[in-house]
Amino acid sequence: MIRIDTVTKRYPDGTVAVDRLTLDIPDRSITVLVGPSGCGKTTTLRMINRMVEPTEGTIRLDGVDIREQPVTTLRRSMGYVIQNAGLFQHRTVVDNIATVPRLLGWGKQKSRARAAELMERVGLDASLAKRYPYQLSGGQQQRVGVARALAADPPVLLMDEPFSAVDPVVRKGLQDELLRLQEDLGKTIVFVTHDIDEAVKLGTMVAVLRTGGRLAQYAPPAELLSA
Ligand code: ADP
Ligand code: ADP
Repeated sequence: MIRIDTVTKRYPDGTVAVDRLTLDIPDRSITVLVGPSGCGKTTTLRMINRMVEPTEGTIRLDGVDIREQPVTTLRRSMGYVIQNAGLFQHRTVVDNIATVPRLLGWGKQKSRARAAELMERVGLDASLAKRYPYQLSGGQQQRVGVARALAADPPVLLMDEPFSAVDPVVRKGLQDELLRLQEDLGKTIVFVTHDIDEAVKLGTMVAVLRTGGRLAQYAPPAELLSA
């Protein structure tokens, strides 16, 4: 369980990106943060892996303040997927996915075997293993991004508009696969989108933020009040 407790983020220029946000993110389900551009979704996500530090308030992971462990340990427990995948352009697909296992000292063989297993898991044909990111479609790049984030088997997956840059048909396929993946692997997923339809489709719980970083609603999709 990730517990966000009365968290405020004020950037140095005075912008209040997140305003006294309290949210309990349940394990092994998809919690979606949705709302218009600038409402604090990315800031919230980045506070969970400490890329951004809250100005006030506390975030706990399984009851422990996330500031109480080294940031590298925290990040290792959280895969991170962004829009446009953020792949290493000079590494092949298999080496992109094997990056974290290699950093963890798994050795080349074992890391590549893990990468191959993950390619299958996210629906990437094995024939793509030696390609470079520019040789892939947008949808394929996002799959590589998801596989890379899963490589060290982290319990938590943070996803920031992961499917926003791909066309609608590909996006639908990626959404369906994420639901399947979550069912199989039981990750705790925090998913950011500005698309309410995507939020309703994917979310076990949906947090609706509004401009100024305030929480407007937090409910399962079927119980959301139309605004
Ligand atoms: P969203 O992901 O919902 O689009 P963000 O969390 O990116 O929202 O941004 C929330 C608010 O904080 C916006 O007003 C944005 O301009 C501002 N903001 C984001 N990052 C910074 C920063 N580094 N410095 C100052 N303001 C920022
Ligand atoms: P999508 O609709 O998924 O974005 P694209 O139209 O971009 O698909 O690509 C269609 C197919 O062409 C994909 O299977 C992709 O692997 C292949 N492809 C795209 N760009 C290249 C490239 N530069 N070199 C080789 N194959 C490519």
